[in-house]
Amino acid sequence: MSIELPEALILAQQLSSELQGKTVKSWQVKDCERMQRIGLLDKDLTSFNLLVGGKVTAAVARGNAIRVKVDNGSNLLLAPEYGGHIFFHPSKSEVPKKFHLKVDFNDGSALTVRLISMGHFSALRDSDLEHSYIYRRDFNPAIASPIEKAFTFKHFSQLLSDINRALKSVLVGKDAVVVGLSNSAFQDIIFRANLHPKRKASELTPDEQRALFDGIGVVLKERIRLKGKIQFLDLYGKQGQYEPAMGPNLKHQPCPTCQTPIAKLSVGGGHVYLCPKCQA
Ligand SMILES: [Zn+2]
Repeated sequence: MSIELPEALILAQQLSSELQGKTVKSWQVKDCERMQRIGLLDKDLTSFNLLVGGKVTAAVARGNAIRVKVDNGSNLLLAPEYGGHIFFHPSKSEVPKKFHLKVDFNDGSALTVRLISMGHFSALRDSDLEHSYIYRRDFNPAIASPIEKAFTFKHFSQLLSDINRALKSVLVGKDAVVVGLSNSAFQDIIFRANLHPKRKASELTPDEQRALFDGIGVVLKERIRLKGKIQFLDLYGKQGQYEPAMGPNLKHQPCPTCQTPIAKLSVGGGHVYLCPKCQA
């Protein structure tokens, strides 16, 4: 389960209302050696001292990342990319045994972060945010966020026309023209748009561009409205209700539209489930 734009947004909203005004008392990291060794986390995690004594002012999300702002000029950056749990605990007695990061607040409450597979968290000064790869990737205003007003069909259509690459890399990964989408949202979006994942962006007709644009909007809005994807757990451990229209959950199933058996295709270093007929 990956945390994509909708889930990051839900978590940021919950973090903002829950943590606002709370003062950071202490922090603890554990079992992080593997993730430090492969470069997901900083070698030196004492930077979390930056947060201590500061008061949380807000949490915001962009792309797949969450920035918790603290009033002493520091930030907690969270990006549980390929899954992870960010939980709030009203009292110490509710803190689980397993976590990678724990932040304790003065009122006795705590936040825990547990990454599953790949992900990232760090503490940074405001002035150092730009040095963070995650921050630069997701908070760069030059790369559109599909839920922001600046992301218009006209803008998107122009971007697509200029790119001679398959749709996957246009919407997902380091060369994507938007932030916040991973493979899961991608499969769902192109199924709703009736597009094959290997189609070249520059070769889409205006109607196909429109279908893709609308597909992005529908999938993200529905996922936000239904409190995240089905495997997602929010800040309080509550499960999301959004069942993807296309993805591994449709393996060996008939296409909901035309009854053709769903196929699995290798695309850009991953797998994409699709309807071979609807998305021909
Ligand atoms: Zn179909």
